[in-house]
Amino acid sequence: MYALMTEKGYDYSFNPNACAECGGNCCTGESGYIYLNQKEMEAIAAFLELSLKDFKEDYILKNGYKYSLKEKLVGLSHDCIFFNREINGCGIYPVRPTQCRTFPFWDYFKNHKDELQAECPGIIFNTTKEENV
Ligand code: SF4
Ligand code: SF4
Repeated sequence: MYALMTEKGYDYSFNPNACAECGGNCCTGESGYIYLNQKEMEAIAAFLELSLKDFKEDYILKNGYKYSLKEKLVGLSHDCIFFNREINGCGIYPVRPTQCRTFPFWDYFKNHKDELQAECPGIIFNTTKEENV
C-alpha cells in the first residue's frame, strides 16, 4: 500500500493505489501531448539503448518548437507510445518525463477539477473549507 500524496497549493490528494485497477487512464484515451525536454529525450534514448536521432525519429513528434511523445491508436484510444497494455503500465517508467511524474498535480487541473476527477480514480478532494485554502 502506498501513502496518499499531497502537494502544497492543491485541494486534493492522490491515492497511488488506484493505479493498479485503473488501467492507465492518464496514458490513454483522448489525444494529447506529453511534452519533454532535451535531457528527458536523452535519458529515454539511453534507457532504450537508442541513439538520440533514432529515438526522435521513432517516438517524437514536434508541436511548434516543443517535443512530445507520439501516440498509437488502440481501438478508439490514443495511447502514449510507451503505454504497455499487457502490464497496464508505462514501458519507460524509470525515465518517464516530468509531465508524467508530476501528474495529477498540474496547475491546469486547479481550474479543471471535473476533468481530473473523470480521468483519475485516485483523486480525493478535500472536504473541509480549511483544507481548500
Ligand atoms: S489515471 Fe490516475 S489512477 Fe489511473 S493510472 Fe493515471 S494516475 Fe493512476
Ligand atoms: S511516458 Fe509512460 S507515464 Fe508518461 S504518458 Fe507515456 S506511458 Fe504514461
